[in-house]
Amino acid sequence: MNPGYMTKFRPHCPDHPQEDLIEDFRAGDLICPECGLVVMEHAINVSAEWRFLEPTGTDPCRVGAICDPLLNGEDMSTVIGPMPMSRDGNYQLPTYIKRRVLLGTNNAIKRGFDVIAVMVKRLNTNEQVRDRAKALYKQIYDSKLIRTRSTDAKCAACIYIACRQENIPRSFKEVCAICNSSKKEIGRTYKQLMTALKLDLDLVGSKDFMTRFCSTLDVPVSMETVAMQIASNSMEIYELTGRSPLSIASAAIYMATHTAAPEYHREAGHIARVAGVALTTVNTIYMIMLDHLDKILPRGTNRSMLPMPNLDI
Ligand SMILES: [Zn+2]
Repeated sequence: MNPGYMTKFRPHCPDHPQEDLIEDFRAGDLICPECGLVVMEHAINVSAEWRFLEPTGTDPCRVGAICDPLLNGEDMSTVIGPMPMSRDGNYQLPTYIKRRVLLGTNNAIKRGFDVIAVMVKRLNTNEQVRDRAKALYKQIYDSKLIRTRSTDAKCAACIYIACRQENIPRSFKEVCAICNSSKKEIGRTYKQLMTALKLDLDLVGSKDFMTRFCSTLDVPVSMETVAMQIASNSMEIYELTGRSPLSIASAAIYMATHTAAPEYHREAGHIARVAGVALTTVNTIYMIMLDHLDKILPRGTNRSMLPMPNLDI
């Protein structure tokens, strides 16, 4: 750049061209220190404008939280708030308020998001489930298709569907346990949601729960494979049709662990607690399975340690 270009337009006092001008940042004035002439006014200060928002903090950063694409009004626009009266009766300077704060719908959605975040944490699932549940929640909020007023029920139904869609299904009982709504209300909301959003989910099978239950029960992978085979073979048994996949998974785990050495045996009561099913159900299904051992047990499995009708519970 030609240096002469810069000096040519350098603002200076006509009477004292050699004086360095003083800049008044607040008013944007350039003032001659010798005679006080305002040589230039309304100059724009292009340097960084840091403000300390935290009264005691030293971090000059005034950047807010990360933008959430699931919320409306991400245009980052601001409006000037009302002039607040301070305690001594003087008016304080009005402040900028994010428009997002003023949008009521976003507050309602955000409330739902907060509930979902808490529930997902309790359910011990991942962020994908949380985001999917949030997206579903926003969808039903925008469409206004769900009539139930309970935020809890809506969030629980969203999480239940999100878990299924993310292939880490949770049982209905587990989802009901993490919120305050009744099972009936969540069930009703779930059905409304499925129709309103035209969703279609695969049926839940015992294998969807097997890995999780086995890892909670500390069952080795080899036995988990046996349990999977038992559960999938049990689908062929007529007496077990219509049984809950949770109960079948529990009985299959019980049977599979008893084909191995005694230190791997798991008590039926323990399995029932982990799976959230009744102990009697596990027993009943195990009894039915015992009648069909040839059909359901993988070939070459050791049957000698399988508990016979008098269950050790
Ligand atoms: Zn001057």
